[in-house]
Amino acid sequence: MDAQQFASDNYAAVCPEVWEAMAAANSGHASAYGEDEWTARASDSFREFFEADCEVFFVFNGTAANSLALASLCQSYHSVICTQSAHIETDECGAPEFFSNGSKILTAASTDGKLTPAAVQAIATARTDIHFPKPKVVTITQSTETGRVYTTEEVRVLSAMSRTMGLHLHMDGARFFNAVEGLGCTPAQITWQAGVEVLCCGGTKNGMAIGEAIVFFDKKLAQDFEYRCKQAGQLASKMRYLSAPWLGMLGNNVWSRNAAHANRCARRLRDAIVDSPAVRLMFPVEANAVFLLAPEERLERLRRLGWRFYTFIGGGARFMFAWDSDPVRVDQLAKDIREVMA
Ligand SMILES: *Cc1c(COP(=O)(O)O)cnc(C)c1O
Repeated sequence: MDAQQFASDNYAAVCPEVWEAMAAANSGHASAYGEDEWTARASDSFREFFEADCEVFFVFNGTAANSLALASLCQSYHSVICTQSAHIETDECGAPEFFSNGSKILTAASTDGKLTPAAVQAIATARTDIHFPKPKVVTITQSTETGRVYTTEEVRVLSAMSRTMGLHLHMDGARFFNAVEGLGCTPAQITWQAGVEVLCCGGTKNGMAIGEAIVFFDKKLAQDFEYRCKQAGQLASKMRYLSAPWLGMLGNNVWSRNAAHANRCARRLRDAIVDSPAVRLMFPVEANAVFLLAPEERLERLRRLGWRFYTFIGGGARFMFAWDSDPVRVDQLAKDIREVMA
C-alpha cells in the first residue's frame, strides 16, 4: 500500500459502509436500467435527505452529471455563466458544450473562486442582441474549486438575481457534503430552499467508488432526462451497483462523518502551518482543501520529499483531504511544509 497523498480526495479508497451497501445489492437477479428496488430506495433516501419530492438520476461521474444537467437546461443557442475556475470550464474537456450542442460558457473573473451577483449581472446584461448566445443558466460550485463555501444567504441572493433575469441556477456539488458540513446547515437549506433548481451531488470524493447523483428539485426540468443519460452512455444497465452504494452513503449519516473528517484534516494542516511566517495560505479553509502559495523552487523541494499535489487549480499547491485521511500523515506534511518554506 502506498503512503497517503493529499493531491486529491479521489485518491482515497471506498468507505466500508458504501462497500457493504454495494455488497448487499450483490445477490440474485434484479431488473435492469434502474427498474430495481435498490434504485427506488436510493432515490427515496435522497428525497428524505433533501426533505423534498425531487427527481434523482444516477450517473458514473461528475463531468457527465454537470454536462447533462446543463444540457437539459439549455438550448444550443444559450449560454452558461460560471467563474473562470469552474470545473465545467477548466476540467471537463468541453463536455458541457458538446452535450448541449454548443451552448457557450461565459466566465467571470474571480479572485477566490466564488461567483458574485455583480458578476452575474454584468455578464447577463453585457450583450442582449441576437448575435450573442442568450444567457440561460448560472452555475456555482459548492464547495468551490478553491475550497470555499457559499453561505445560504449568498446562494439566496444569487438565485434571486438569476430568477429576475430568467436564468436557472445549477450547483456543481462534487464536494457538496463537505460544504454542508462546513456550513452546519441542512441539505435542504443550501439547495432548493435557497433557490437551487438542479444539483449534481458528488459521491466519489466522499468515499464512493463511482457515482454522482443529479437531483432535480423542479421536476419539470427533469423531463426526458433519462433519454439524455442513455444517449450519453450514462445509463448503467446494472444500475443497482450505481445506486445501492448511496444507501450506505446517506444512511446513518455516513456522508456527514466522512465529510467532517476530511474538513477536520484540512483545518489540522492549516493550524499546523499557519503561524509559520513563510507560509502563505491562498484561501480561507472552509471545506476540505488547503491552498499554499509558494515559489516553484520550494514546491519542487516538497515534491522531492515525496509529496504529490496539483498546482494547476487556483495557481498554488492544493492539498485535499478525504474521509480516510490519516492525521499522522497530515502532521508529516505539515512538518515538511514548515521546513521547506522556512
Ligand atoms: C471532481 C470534480 C467534478 C467531477 O469530476 P469527474 O472526474 O468527472 O468525476 C466536478 N466538479 C468539480 C468541482 C470537481 O472537483
